[in-house]
Amino acid sequence: METSLLVLGSGQDGGSPQLGHTAGQGPDRMASSVALITAKGSVILLDASPDIRQQSVALMTSDRYPSGRDAPFDAIALTHGHMGHYAGLVHLGKESSDLRGVKLLATGRMHSFLRANDPWRALYERRNLLPDTFGLGAIRVDEEVTIDAITVPHRAEYTDTVAISVRLDGEPWFMYLPDIDGWGDWRGAEEAIASHQICLLDATFSDPGELPGRDVAAIRHPLVGDTLDRFGFPNRAVVEMTLAELKSLDMGGWFDGGEFAGERIVTVSEIFDAFGEVFIYHAEIKAPSHALADDLIALIEDRGYRDRVIVTSFDYDILLYVREQFPEQRVGWLVRHDGFSAVNVEKAAAAGFFQFCPRADEMTAERVIDAKKRIPEIRAHGIKTKANLAQAVAAGCDGTTVNWPDWLTKD
Ligand SMILES: [Zn+2]
Repeated sequence: METSLLVLGSGQDGGSPQLGHTAGQGPDRMASSVALITAKGSVILLDASPDIRQQSVALMTSDRYPSGRDAPFDAIALTHGHMGHYAGLVHLGKESSDLRGVKLLATGRMHSFLRANDPWRALYERRNLLPDTFGLGAIRVDEEVTIDAITVPHRAEYTDTVAISVRLDGEPWFMYLPDIDGWGDWRGAEEAIASHQICLLDATFSDPGELPGRDVAAIRHPLVGDTLDRFGFPNRAVVEMTLAELKSLDMGGWFDGGEFAGERIVTVSEIFDAFGEVFIYHAEIKAPSHALADDLIALIEDRGYRDRVIVTSFDYDILLYVREQFPEQRVGWLVRHDGFSAVNVEKAAAAGFFQFCPRADEMTAERVIDAKKRIPEIRAHGIKTKANLAQAVAAGCDGTTVNWPDWLTKD
């Protein structure tokens, strides 16, 4: 197994929903934490969040977690002394797991802060934690992996703040930077971010209006849009780009641990050339443009693939257009959250659609049976987990969109 990362939480210090709320703004989130699992089987936790109990369950039940270990992790590396990043250490103490001999990688100031205050002091005295200090050269994890810290500007009431830099064979690989005041305050930002292959950066706020009644300027943190403008891809829409520009982009690097990094975009013609009559294709029209629909249908007709392609879209009107212009072309309507309704099934049936495609997590056998009385095929989309896939299969739908077809063949 290669050295890998498992993101255990991406929320703010207090998680979401925060204490006193029954629903979060958006998805439920645990506080920020990442597990580094090395090829040699070492497990290092980056930050010890207040959600460490649930996060260690997620870690230890992950496919990538090395088997046969005694302790859940070998070491913890801390970024700074705000509660979301170290308060989970309390679970190492004698009232809880009483884990012994866990290395604690932190700055000298962070160690001083913990040593000066209970209940953390006891963790050092009882040797639950064995301190190792950043700033004296990279700390070796095993033959391939070292960890170092890079000081960054962030409110320093208790301790200094660092980004954690993981190196593979001496080369910067991953940088974990959950909190920073602003990019303008850190002159080394561009270089540090460019030199690492993977960076997880502070994304605390998207909009200054997110904290009603509190002044975001006083809390600091860069806004997500500013961070992306500075370090991300340029803010351009696909429709404005040429094929040559699109072909220069890495289309696979985002997916599932980087196994497909470096894959380039392919055109529909190239897909047809590569796979010919091996597949039944589903071609989704993403932008509701008549010209795009015309070009797609012309290509399908040119290849003689009318019976081999189902044209899909979330846009009902573009599907109506395809049906009007090319009555023999089969189409499938993708519907969004809460879309598996009798009204939508009727709309699809009335328009003569071949497929109706609700989200997998809305699939039930009863709904599928009912819908199939009106529409030839019911297909699922929105599969993110094996549970989603199992639900779609159990409901008896005709097929699914899935990024992991091997889940069906292997599991
Ligand atoms: Zn902080």
